[in-house]
Amino acid sequence: MSSATDEFGPFCGALGCTEDADVVINHPEHGRRTVCENHAEGHEVVADV
Ligand SMILES: [Zn+2]
Repeated sequence: MSSATDEFGPFCGALGCTEDADVVINHPEHGRRTVCENHAEGHEVVADV
Protein backbone atom coordinates (compact mmCIF):
# COMPACT_ATOMS: atom_id res chain seq x y z
CA MET A 1 0.00 0.00 0.00
CA SER A 2 1.29 3.42 -0.91
CA SER A 3 1.17 6.28 1.52
CA ALA A 4 1.29 8.84 -1.27
CA THR A 5 -1.96 10.64 -1.80
CA ASP A 6 -1.80 11.59 -5.41
CA GLU A 7 0.56 9.32 -7.21
CA PHE A 8 0.13 7.13 -10.24
CA GLY A 9 1.60 3.82 -9.28
CA PRO A 10 3.10 1.35 -11.68
CA PHE A 11 0.60 -0.66 -13.66
CA CYS A 12 0.32 -4.40 -13.96
CA GLY A 13 2.78 -5.78 -16.51
CA ALA A 14 0.47 -8.55 -17.69
CA LEU A 15 -0.65 -8.21 -21.28
CA GLY A 16 -3.94 -6.36 -21.58
CA CYS A 17 -4.24 -5.71 -17.86
CA THR A 18 -4.83 -2.16 -16.66
CA GLU A 19 -4.93 -2.81 -12.93
CA ASP A 20 -2.56 -1.02 -10.60
CA ALA A 21 0.43 -3.13 -9.73
CA ASP A 22 0.59 -4.57 -6.22
CA VAL A 23 3.61 -6.83 -6.13
CA VAL A 24 6.74 -7.89 -7.98
CA ILE A 25 6.88 -11.53 -9.00
CA ASN A 26 9.70 -13.71 -10.20
CA HIS A 27 8.35 -14.91 -13.53
CA PRO A 28 9.96 -18.06 -14.98
CA GLU A 29 10.21 -16.56 -18.48
CA HIS A 30 10.21 -12.82 -17.96
CA GLY A 31 12.11 -12.47 -14.72
CA ARG A 32 10.89 -9.78 -12.36
CA ARG A 33 7.54 -8.37 -13.35
CA THR A 34 5.39 -5.86 -11.58
CA VAL A 35 1.83 -7.11 -11.56
CA CYS A 36 -1.53 -6.80 -9.85
CA GLU A 37 -2.50 -9.26 -7.14
CA ASN A 38 -4.64 -11.28 -9.53
CA HIS A 39 -1.73 -11.90 -11.86
CA ALA A 40 0.60 -12.65 -8.96
CA GLU A 41 -1.27 -15.85 -8.26
CA GLY A 42 0.79 -18.92 -8.99
CA HIS A 43 4.06 -17.00 -9.03
CA GLU A 44 6.73 -16.30 -6.48
CA VAL A 45 6.23 -12.84 -4.99
CA VAL A 46 9.58 -11.17 -4.40
CA ALA A 47 8.53 -7.66 -3.37
CA ASP A 48 5.60 -5.40 -2.63
CA VAL A 49 5.08 -2.31 -4.75
ZN1 LIG B 1 -2.91 -7.83 -13.83
